[in-house]
Amino acid sequence: MRYNDQEDTLRHKGLRQQLVRELRDKGITDERVLEAINKVPRHLFMDAGHLELAYKDQAFPIGAGQTISQPYTVAFQTSLLEVHEGDKVLEIGTGSGYQAAILLEMGARVFTIERQKELFLNAQALLTRLGYHPRFFYGDGYEGLPAFAPFDRILITAAAPEVPEALIRQLKTGGILVAPVGSGDRQVMTRMVKHDKDNIEITRHGDFAFVPMVKGTSNQTNGAAR
Ligand code: SAH
Repeated sequence: MRYNDQEDTLRHKGLRQQLVRELRDKGITDERVLEAINKVPRHLFMDAGHLELAYKDQAFPIGAGQTISQPYTVAFQTSLLEVHEGDKVLEIGTGSGYQAAILLEMGARVFTIERQKELFLNAQALLTRLGYHPRFFYGDGYEGLPAFAPFDRILITAAAPEVPEALIRQLKTGGILVAPVGSGDRQVMTRMVKHDKDNIEITRHGDFAFVPMVKGTSNQTNGAAR
């Protein structure tokens, strides 16, 4: 059988259902998250020709030295974020755009920032083609988006040694921020609930491995090969 990697076929849908079953077995219970994973055609966020890998529970290179997160990690982070319909969500690290698509499927209004020009442009083109419409920003996630703050939810998808103060400031009272925190090979998935500006509840949820959150932007339009 031949597949057209630009399309979403029954075969792809079947592989996604299998992935959802696997994520359930690994302990993901949030039905709205699982439903979103069941809908978003992850294979279209990776280079063509990787059909078999697209629905395996593993991270994958997306060019410019970056990766699309492992589905389990996306599901786990999204579950911790407790996104509701209509929530204004800031994502740091657009990458492939896959996580943004998941949040949009859940009814969030998504603002997403990417520091690598090539990835920013690719994600914008792909998500638009698929009918997903977050607001895209090319910039430094360390600064967040003060002009659009406050946010109900903030999701950081790159590893920072600590959660940037600017982002905590841009979180609404009652808001939730989820981020992998740490500077070594592994980071601790950290969840902050901002009860008010001087009362932030922090909980930790196990070890993960992310690419680093880097300061500034890299105007690299023809950088690492895809
Ligand atoms: N959410 C992505 C995963 C991306 S990996 C997805 O679903 O595919 C992390 C991404 O964060 C990379 O694309 C990296 O370039 C980006 N990144 C790293 N530091 C950043 C910063 N300071 N601001 C914005 N994006 C950043």
